[in-house]
Amino acid sequence: QAEQGYIGRFAPSPTGMLHAGSLVAALASWLDARAHQGQWRVRMEDVDTPRCVPGADQAILQQLALCHLVPDGPVLWQSQRGLDYQTALDTLIAQGWAYPCACSRKDIESAQTQSVLRHHAAVYPGTCRDGLGGKTARAWRLNVQAVQAAFHLPRITPWQDRRLGGQEQDVLEAVGDFVLRRADGLWAYQLAVVVDDAAQGISHVVRGEDLADNTARQMLLQRALDVPTPHYLHTALVLGTNGEKLSKQNGAQALDLQDPLHALRQAASALNLPVREEVTDIDAQLAQWTDLWRAQHAPRVPFKA
Ligand code: GLU
Repeated sequence: QAEQGYIGRFAPSPTGMLHAGSLVAALASWLDARAHQGQWRVRMEDVDTPRCVPGADQAILQQLALCHLVPDGPVLWQSQRGLDYQTALDTLIAQGWAYPCACSRKDIESAQTQSVLRHHAAVYPGTCRDGLGGKTARAWRLNVQAVQAAFHLPRITPWQDRRLGGQEQDVLEAVGDFVLRRADGLWAYQLAVVVDDAAQGISHVVRGEDLADNTARQMLLQRALDVPTPHYLHTALVLGTNGEKLSKQNGAQALDLQDPLHALRQAASALNLPVREEVTDIDAQLAQWTDLWRAQHAPRVPFKA
């Protein structure tokens, strides 16, 4: 019997084909959905159009299909969701929780001390929070303090990860008032993800640990937009031979799917799932991992939305 309301998702950015690391996120989110007898959606995060590779979306869907990871329901493309993102931004502006910003990257970096910059991406110092001073608006940002004040939220955002346990972030100190719409007119990942997770009714987010530090920002946006916060599980990252996280940016190879079961087994080992060489059928192997995953990760008390 389906647990009420479980909807999970895999949300690749079609900036290239799946690599070994992205298959781990796909498999983990699929297993979690199946273990909860829930649905598994696929969403193409193609908002950053200059970084997207034409055809990569279809290629990813084919790669998933070869691995027998087939989405329930239609695939959502973020590039078609601009009106909804605009509506969300308008809501935030109307509440006084978003403001235009005229700063260039250089402006923001020159406001930082060098020691901070060496270790972190530039934190936005809030330069335009109280007005543009006659300059031209470029981006839109969330007024973090205004949202926290409106909902009586603490400055440090606490959250629970199903694998990592209790987490927290001081969003203002770690990133500052973050971007909702970029200076080039493109929608920012944070806004698009929150609007779409809500629109698709996502109850459980399962994704790589490299994305964990976005969670507090997304939770603030969920409060501001009055949408539910999903449950979060961030999976361990797959590291390349050089010890760096596998990513398209550092040249991870597209998966070789001549032998999909082999690729799935590698992804499963990264998730600490055992591999039994005698199982040669993809569906049988997936079913076995689903049972193991259920034993490890699914709640004993059934999940209720
Ligand atoms: N599109 C993001 C990525 O491929 C994933 C976003 C998410 O799962 O929240 O890194």
